[in-house]
Amino acid sequence: MQDNASPVAGQVGYVAIEQPFGVQPPQVHCPICGQRQFVEAGDEYLETPCEHLAFVFGGEEDEFVYASDDFAARFERFDAELDARFPDEDARVGEAYEEASSFYRDLFARRLADLGYGANLLALRITYGGMADGAPVWFSDVYGFDYATIRDDE
Ligand SMILES: [Zn+2]
Repeated sequence: MQDNASPVAGQVGYVAIEQPFGVQPPQVHCPICGQRQFVEAGDEYLETPCEHLAFVFGGEEDEFVYASDDFAARFERFDAELDARFPDEDARVGEAYEEASSFYRDLFARRLADLGYGANLLALRITYGGMADGAPVWFSDVYGFDYATIRDDE
């Protein structure tokens, strides 16, 4: 898992924020340039990512809903390594695969390290809850901002 990861000092910055129940998720702005990452257009949310946004993991979708080119390339390498380590279905049952592949909860920051990120990445995990069909549901979105993308002219 380490061979594509050039050594980056320090651990990924991973911050978990939980909102009070029933409060809409916040408008997320880039901590580097201030740009809003999504805008509402009618009933839809349109992505308006700035160059610092590495990824957005959508809790409701349970997958990455935005990936920068750099993140997509890292993810492809990660996926290829996973394929090499767990080549077939038989290898993919069991805890070891789960432990190596899952982005679930506490494993998220470890996966980001597997992707070669270090202390120059800030991952913001925002948990929010509300009622759906009479039952409370909670989701967590994760936004990744890459401070390594800052250029000298900023
Ligand atoms: Zn930005």
